Amino acid sequence: MSIFQDNLNRLTTVAALDSISESDLVLLSTPARVSYKNMEVNGKEYPAWRILYSSDLGPGKGGIRYHPDVSEDEVQSLAFWMALKNSLADIPYGGAKGGVKFDPKTADKAELEAVSRAYARTFADVLGQDKDIPAPDVYTNSQIMSWMLDEFEKVTGRHEPGMITGKPVELGGIKLRADATAQGGYFVMQEAAKMFIKNRKPSDISVAIQGFGNAGALMAEKIFADGYKVVAASDSRGGIFNADGLDVAKLSLFKAEGKAVEGFQPGAPISNEVLLELDVDILILAALENQITADNAHRIKAKHIIELANGPIDLAADKILDEAGVVIVPDILANSGGVIVSYFEWAQNRTGQILDEEYLRNLLEKKMRANWQRTYDVYKEKTGISLRQAAYILAVRRILAAKHWRGR
Ligand code: NAD
Repeated sequence: MSIFQDNLNRLTTVAALDSISESDLVLLSTPARVSYKNMEVNGKEYPAWRILYSSDLGPGKGGIRYHPDVSEDEVQSLAFWMALKNSLADIPYGGAKGGVKFDPKTADKAELEAVSRAYARTFADVLGQDKDIPAPDVYTNSQIMSWMLDEFEKVTGRHEPGMITGKPVELGGIKLRADATAQGGYFVMQEAAKMFIKNRKPSDISVAIQGFGNAGALMAEKIFADGYKVVAASDSRGGIFNADGLDVAKLSLFKAEGKAVEGFQPGAPISNEVLLELDVDILILAALENQITADNAHRIKAKHIIELANGPIDLAADKILDEAGVVIVPDILANSGGVIVSYFEWAQNRTGQILDEEYLRNLLEKKMRANWQRTYDVYKEKTGISLRQAAYILAVRRILAAKHWRGR
């Protein structure tokens, strides 16, 4: 099943819930621009995409993913989610995403640099601080952003740090970006816990985390530091389980040494499949799309799920989990901390004004908690809908308002 088709089906349901017209639904169902190139780098081919889903609220914004399974269906879905996420977050961006289909884990530094520079050259025409602004995503990082910025500036012949976010501080990045997605996710998790897991102290709340990368590991550290019991974590190679709770601070150091989490002690190795089915209070999904589908949804025992990854639950699974009463905090709300701080970085690059870090940290917190509250209010007001549908309703309303003001 196509991920994008799942999204269109979700959109159709939301349109019915919020009296959205057929013509508006058509407007929302099509990406603004699909750019594709089979890049040739040192004799090898690398299929690459940049998809601008919408630019109604501002320039495109969204990360670039390097992964052997990248496809147009996936990049278009990620671009669609970015459009909704940016709208819900109340920041002046449309939505976009990029991807290169290859395995960066088997590439050496020279190949990574060559592919990253080729990407910036190939899509230089459609990128720019007023057009479309990339950022890191799965298996891309601040070094890759630096090469892309450097190449873009060579091609265009001018400095333009605002064309990309997630840069190192020396190139115009901001420190806060490193853990922004995790920090934002944690604020939302605290709000959700207040509503749905009442009167229990963190040490009595068990958590499992799938995906121990930028988003998942940093969120695990925050949860652990606040006393939650993180009983399981995993990366692409497998997971680790300890019913008494893992020492996440030590696990992060272990992972930083290049080791797979399944080898961590004390703990028992488990598969990613088993991790998803653990009987925990909170399951945090921080890896990739389609981790919970009709195949395993019936076996999920967690009562609350936080989607730090984009699209980790497909539509069929969503329905099964909803019917089972599982509370799902949707991706476009839970993981929006990263793009909110990217917005701070971009705004700082554009104005040349250096903003105080404490001020920005507070602003991120304020925005995340406010976005949760607005979503929760719609969820309560329209009885019987899911938090995801509430978030989609708010996001779609703002995009449509912008389209209508523009006369589209
Ligand atoms: P990352 O590359 O830093 O980490 C990904 C992690 O997932 C790695 O630990 C990897 O080993 C693990 N993983 C990969 N395949 C897996 C599998 N099948 N099962 C279990 N683990 C697996 O990437 P990231 O930036 O942390 O992104 C993770 C998710 O969060 C993605 O869906 C991404 O789109 C989303 N996200 C990230 C950010 C951000 O700022 N980093 C922002 C918004 C959304």
